[in-house]
Amino acid sequence: MKNIDIIVPCYNEQEVLSTFYKTTDEIVGAIKDCRFRFIFVNDGSSDDTLLILKGLRSTYDNVDYISFSRNFGKEAAMYAGLSNSTGDYVIVMDADLQHPPILIPEMVQAINEGYDCCAAYRTNRKGEAPIRSFLSRQFYKVNNLLTSVKMPYGAVDFRIMSRPMIDAIVSMGEAERFSKGIFSYVGFQTKWIPYTNVERTLGVTKWKLRSLLKYAIDGITSFSVAPLHLVSIMGCLISLMAIIYGIYIFIKTVIFGVDLPGYASTVILLLFLCGVIELSLGIVSEYLARIFVESKNRPIYIAKENTLEDSEK
Ligand code: UDP
Ligand code: MG
Repeated sequence: MKNIDIIVPCYNEQEVLSTFYKTTDEIVGAIKDCRFRFIFVNDGSSDDTLLILKGLRSTYDNVDYISFSRNFGKEAAMYAGLSNSTGDYVIVMDADLQHPPILIPEMVQAINEGYDCCAAYRTNRKGEAPIRSFLSRQFYKVNNLLTSVKMPYGAVDFRIMSRPMIDAIVSMGEAERFSKGIFSYVGFQTKWIPYTNVERTLGVTKWKLRSLLKYAIDGITSFSVAPLHLVSIMGCLISLMAIIYGIYIFIKTVIFGVDLPGYASTVILLLFLCGVIELSLGIVSEYLARIFVESKNRPIYIAKENTLEDSEK
């Protein structure tokens, strides 16, 4: 008998939670030789999510939940679930049924075949804002170019993982977490299964353009220092060009005397160099900010309620 925990981060998901539980429980209930338990993580919802979770817990005996003191973000919610799980395997999935529970039997099949992990990827992005798909594709390109942790385009946070893999992930205690990178960084044999994108029918997406941008920057700065190398290379090249240009001006002045016109080239050069300096400072600051956040060593989440701890007492 395998114990499998299903971790579900929830932020304002009151419309979908009951349907999610019923649909998923019915599917996993039919899987033999496995005992499933749901660990919902209420990420500081302002709607009735917690109330619904309490209701589910009192009605069904395979429901546990952790409730945060405020919104800490999906990454923190996933971490809370993983670090509190005790199952031999863990499934991570969204509450909005965009991660089709019907894939779970196939995932369990993969671990029976001996894989440590089975993860899903989308083959299309139907129903998503075109600007989001476009930016997302660019992000994967840049990310896979700059970092050594490769992520297939379309990879989502829907996966099953073995205990050794979960322990490895939890041991990475960074505060600014980028799970897609962490999943790939820890290694382990992963089977990828495709699925066609499902549109959200209940509730609304919680992602904003701004949080996606932060997500992208986190992704790159978590796993690559290539931008910092770029800054040094840029600095060297520009200094070299400045020296050559300096020598050229010096010789020109000595031979032809002082020549005043040159306003345009001066301004262009000035603007260009200022831009480069600003950009470099920005890149360095991104890393500095990460050091700042990590050095404070604050907890990744703060829970107000945790039924998993209650039951241990
Ligand atoms: N989520 C969360 N905390 C947040 C934002 C989202 O726990 O601050 C959860 C959300 O409840 C859902 C999952 O993360 O279960 C994915 O969120 P969403 O569906 O809004 O993102 P999308 O599918 O549009 O990428
Ligand atoms: Mg969604």
